[in-house]
Amino acid sequence: MDRRADVVVVGGGVIGCFIAYELSKAGVEVVVVEKGQVGAEASSAAAGLLVPLHMAEEERALFEFHLASTRMFPAFVPALQEETGIDVEYIPSGILRIALNEDKEADRLSQFQKLGAAFGMAVTSLDAREIHSLEPELAQAVCGGIFSHDEAYINNGRLVLALARGASLRKAQFLEGCIATGVQRTDGRFSALQTNEGEIAAEHLVVATGAWSRVFCEALDITIPVVPARGQMLAVTTIPRLLQRPINSSKGALVPRADGSVHVGATVEHVGFDKRNTPEAVADLLERGTSVVPALSDGRVERMWSGLRPFCEDGLPAIGALPGWENVSVAAGHFTMGITGSPITAKVIKELIVDGQWDRSMEIFSPARFVDC
Ligand SMILES: Cc1cc2nc3c(=O)[nH]c(=O)nc-3n(C[C@H](O)[C@H](O)[C@H](O)COP(=O)(O)OP(=O)(O)OC[C@H]3O[C@@H](n4cnc5c(N)ncnc54)[C@H](O)[C@@H]3O)c2cc1C
Repeated sequence: MDRRADVVVVGGGVIGCFIAYELSKAGVEVVVVEKGQVGAEASSAAAGLLVPLHMAEEERALFEFHLASTRMFPAFVPALQEETGIDVEYIPSGILRIALNEDKEADRLSQFQKLGAAFGMAVTSLDAREIHSLEPELAQAVCGGIFSHDEAYINNGRLVLALARGASLRKAQFLEGCIATGVQRTDGRFSALQTNEGEIAAEHLVVATGAWSRVFCEALDITIPVVPARGQMLAVTTIPRLLQRPINSSKGALVPRADGSVHVGATVEHVGFDKRNTPEAVADLLERGTSVVPALSDGRVERMWSGLRPFCEDGLPAIGALPGWENVSVAAGHFTMGITGSPITAKVIKELIVDGQWDRSMEIFSPARFVDC
């Protein structure tokens, strides 16, 4: 199989598929190479929360990046659903962050409220009574919290599928089960991707290999320090619906899904490429979940899973042109926020490739910062 395209994207997660979608909308011929199945790694394992406020205490540029990205969802979701026929279950319900007795969350949450308000987010402070009237199934240990009106959640698995379908409707090709193994360089430029199924010649390469980015970038002679951070989750189904909106606390996240289940998550473990669900973590997630919503104990554990988040050693994603190459870009390392950050990442990469524009506010994320690694 020898093919050619304008752009070849390695990695069919939410980042690679969103980039393919944006590029194909701009009339670019794209081939996406995915070693497994589209969306089957971190992007389908996620909780689907679109929660920029989680980043309020991090680097300010990262918070602004995810806030801008979250604000893009209401504009693109209706068109994506319309053209693909896939309901991505985007629910602008807001997110409830709660403090439990005896933890230090209350102070932290009021800080979040101030930071969010400073960036124009609507965040309301609530006492225990107000919280219980919104979510009666929450434990009595809840002592206060904040409700962030502008945050939302989405069915992340369906989102990736819809993006891939949207791109393929514009003639993007998706090669599943195709492993990118190396690159060909001609006169200092990327000229072709080598895969287990032959070569793909292209004008531009985009590396969107998630937790495998350090490994893949070795073929490009650069160290991009993005490695896996395992997240385990499980789903509990109850007959009465227990929650109206996602709940976040020091015990983790509880996300009500359209199928009636509650997704309970998630661990953050630096254990390499090990995707097991471990007995210890499953027991811990159940303990944490039932301590926040006791009635979850009456449900049944429907399934459990894990995914490998792309963790970058300095905590920032690597987005932009790869140093040492004229025509290679990277978009990886979104860690706990890759669903949230996917629209803006795709926009930035599309502008770089198609319009030759680089948004200076993205400089902090440039992979050039790793050039001396
Ligand atoms: C448990 C859990 C909960 C999460 N919750 C949230 C959340 O609520 N909100 C949020 O915003 N984010 C969340 N995240 C983070 C989010 O899922 C990730 O940041 C995001 O999915 C990363 O997308 P990606 O496309 O970079 O990586 P991936 O989805 O992992 O995609 C990378 C793809 O590259 C492919 N690939 C790698 N190497 C090669 C190669 N050599 N050849 C071909 N293909 C290759 C892989 O097979 C993979 O499919 C969560 C993650 C986990 C694990």
